Amino acid sequence: MNKFIFPIIILSLLFFSLNKKTDLLEVDFLDVGQGDAILIKTPTGKNILIDGGADNKLLSQLADNLAWWEREIDYLVITHFHADHIMGLPELLNKYKVKNILVSNHQTKDFLYQLWSDRLIEKKLSAQIVGAGERFVIAEDLYWQVLSADDYHEDYNDNSVVIRLTHGSIDFLFTGDLPTTGEDKILATDLVLESEVLKIGHHGSKYSSGEEFLKAVSPQICVIQSGKDNKFGHPHPETINRLTNIGCQIKDTQNQGLIKIFSDGQTLRP
Ligand SMILES: [Zn+2]
Repeated sequence: MNKFIFPIIILSLLFFSLNKKTDLLEVDFLDVGQGDAILIKTPTGKNILIDGGADNKLLSQLADNLAWWEREIDYLVITHFHADHIMGLPELLNKYKVKNILVSNHQTKDFLYQLWSDRLIEKKLSAQIVGAGERFVIAEDLYWQVLSADDYHEDYNDNSVVIRLTHGSIDFLFTGDLPTTGEDKILATDLVLESEVLKIGHHGSKYSSGEEFLKAVSPQICVIQSGKDNKFGHPHPETINRLTNIGCQIKDTQNQGLIKIFSDGQTLRP
C-alpha cells in the first residue's frame, strides 16, 4: 500500500468530522457542583459558555463535552462575579481561546473581581458591557436577547445578566442568580419571558423564581444547577413547590449530573 494512503484516510476522516454539521442546538448544563456553568453548542458550530462554576471542574466538563480539537469559546457570558460562577474562568483563559466576553457594567474592588481583571489584562483581553434589550444574532434562526444587566445593586445577584436564547420557536431563559426583585423588574418591562426551558435562578433558592415570574415564563423544563449537600440547602422546598405548581418537569444537576437538552428549532429533545 502506498505509504501516503493511511495518513490521507486519517486526514479525510478528521476533515469530515470537523465539518460535521448538525441541525440541533445543544445546551449542556454542566455538572460543576454548587455553581453555574452552561455550554451551548450551536448548529453552526459556535460555542457559548454562560458562567464558569466554582472551580476547575469546568475544564474537565468542557473536555468531556467538546471535541478534543475544539479550543475556542465564541462567547463567554459572565452573569455576575460570585465565586460559584467565575472560579473556573481564569484557567479557562489558559486552555481555550475566548473570543468575546460579555458582562454587566458591575465593577467591584473585591479580590475575585481583581483576580479576574488582572487575568484579562495579562491575556490582552477585554470584556464587552451589555445592556437590557440588546440582541446578539448568531444565525438566521438563532439569537439571544439580554433581559437584565444592572450594575448598581449592592447584592451582586441583583446585577445578574439574564439572557433569553431563541432557536426558531424554542426559547431558553438563563437567569443567573437573579432574585425575585430583579424578576419583578423584568416583568414590568415589555420584554418577552415565555420560554420552553428555564434555568432556575440562584440554584433553586426560595428568594428567586417568584410565582408571577414563573407564570410569565411558563416553562416545560426547569433546570436547577446545585451541588450535593450544599450548605445553602438549595434547592429550597418552597421553590420546588412553586415549580411543581406550574407543572414543569424539574431536572437537577445535583441528582442527575450533566443535563443535556437539544432543540431542532421546533421541538425539544431532552
Ligand atoms: Zn450562584
